Amino acid sequence: MRTVDLLDRMQPVYLTGRNRTIDYMNGPFRDIAPDLFPEFKSADRLDQPRPPAPRELDAILDRIAGGEDTVEILQQVQTADGTRYYRSSHFRLVEDGAPAGYAGVYTDVTSENDAARYAERTTSRFEDIVRAASDWVWETDKNLNLTYVSNRIGDLTETPPRQLIGRYLFSLGVPEEAERRQPEIGRLPDTLMPFCGLVLLIGRTEETRRRVALSGAPYFDDNSGDFAGYRGTGTDITREFEAEHRARVSQAALLDSMKELQERNIQLAQALEKSNAASQAKTDFLGKMSHELRTPLNAIIGFSDLSLLESFGKLPDRYKEYFGDIRKAADHLLTIINDILDAVNLDAGKAKIQLEKIKLKPLVEEVLPLVEAEARSRGVDIAAVTVDDGWAVKADRGRLRQILINLVVNALKFTEQGGSVGIETGTGDDGTVLLTVWDTGIGISREQQGLIFDGFHQVQADPVIAPTEGTGLGLTISQQLARLMGGDLRVESELEKGSRFTIILPATAKKQKKKRRARKPVRNSA
Ligand code: ADP
Repeated sequence: MRTVDLLDRMQPVYLTGRNRTIDYMNGPFRDIAPDLFPEFKSADRLDQPRPPAPRELDAILDRIAGGEDTVEILQQVQTADGTRYYRSSHFRLVEDGAPAGYAGVYTDVTSENDAARYAERTTSRFEDIVRAASDWVWETDKNLNLTYVSNRIGDLTETPPRQLIGRYLFSLGVPEEAERRQPEIGRLPDTLMPFCGLVLLIGRTEETRRRVALSGAPYFDDNSGDFAGYRGTGTDITREFEAEHRARVSQAALLDSMKELQERNIQLAQALEKSNAASQAKTDFLGKMSHELRTPLNAIIGFSDLSLLESFGKLPDRYKEYFGDIRKAADHLLTIINDILDAVNLDAGKAKIQLEKIKLKPLVEEVLPLVEAEARSRGVDIAAVTVDDGWAVKADRGRLRQILINLVVNALKFTEQGGSVGIETGTGDDGTVLLTVWDTGIGISREQQGLIFDGFHQVQADPVIAPTEGTGLGLTISQQLARLMGGDLRVESELEKGSRFTIILPATAKKQKKKRRARKPVRNSA
């Protein structure tokens, strides 16, 4: 093989004469020369027998001429195949002790350069991550003595990280559950087991103490494959631990109060059961008792009526008066018993009502005679106890009559001599019919207005004007009945001015009437 061929198989090489013309370039140099020197881009320059050194090379040779021994250059070159890197070495040629020119050798270092840059990037990435991470990163030798710690550790140990190098990893703090953990830690260099969440208590005093969870794994020498040490991270879990602790404490407190609540609930349920049973027993008793009382009461009423009629012979006036008193007392008792029975039945949901169209004018006219005597004896004017023609409601006849009597009797009972009682009709916003019994009596205070519909409640009024006869059940029953009929009973009142009790009832459906009338002609014509 000729020397020239051999040279063509070597790295790119050039030689120049003293006058810096390129006297020789081997094939590889010729190949890369256009990429290295823009002046060689035009082929004819390169093909000249001894082309002068291009400008960039000239500058390098200047440095050698200026006294430098060897000039080393790393050059980045854009080729058609991408970026390549060449390291070149340029030096002086000497012949017989006299300068004879220059020479240069090029080496393609692209892959070495890529590897170096990759390593650099990886390192800087690692460093960035370590810097940004809240955890700290550590590395030990095979005796678990620290060879590397990231800066974060300084915050925890109050020692500059550099001073920690060489210290035994587990001497940074006291392991939690030391008794269980110490043997495991001691065996690590033999077992080479990874570990996770091993808590070290770092800090001298209780206040500065931090809890750090260590996790690590063994690493091995790249060449020999021998165990080289451990690498891992440490996480400050003090805050999480405290939060968890607090959560655990409040959860325990919560559980306690829940338990207490449950117990209270059970007690309450038991009490409610007892009270329901008692209430039921009371209702049963009242119902039974009223029923039992009514039978002998009917005998008393019957016999006093018979006596008052003097069916078996004339009675002395005294006795007649007594029988009159007995009859009146028995009547009063009967009212009370009937009220109690009514209330009991309403409470038990046993009361039955039958809705029908009721004209109000005739109903009021039915009630009037029942209260006239009472009004006269009390000196109360009831001229206004009337209703215009045309008012009708949907209600249970007997029950509506009962409510009306109750309200008018109450109005008379709580109105002083010279006062008056009346009835007013009207239409509610929703088309209901309002039937109001008003009086100019003693009135009811605002707070009592909220109570009078409760069973057995009576306002402790003036015993002279309004002696508390009755049971306090009338309004309760009346309101419950009105509600059963799809309406209500409400009160408005002012002390010493009077009261207005309004029965609200559904009107009879007028639309239906119209429809029925409208249908008739259709049927007739058919
Ligand atoms: P009672 O059988 O005692 O009349 P009610 O339920 O009918 O029971 O009435 C309860 C209480 O409401 C009465 O005791 C009375 O204090 C008060 N009250 C009812 N109607 C009137 C009224 N028109 N004026 C003043 N107070 C009244």
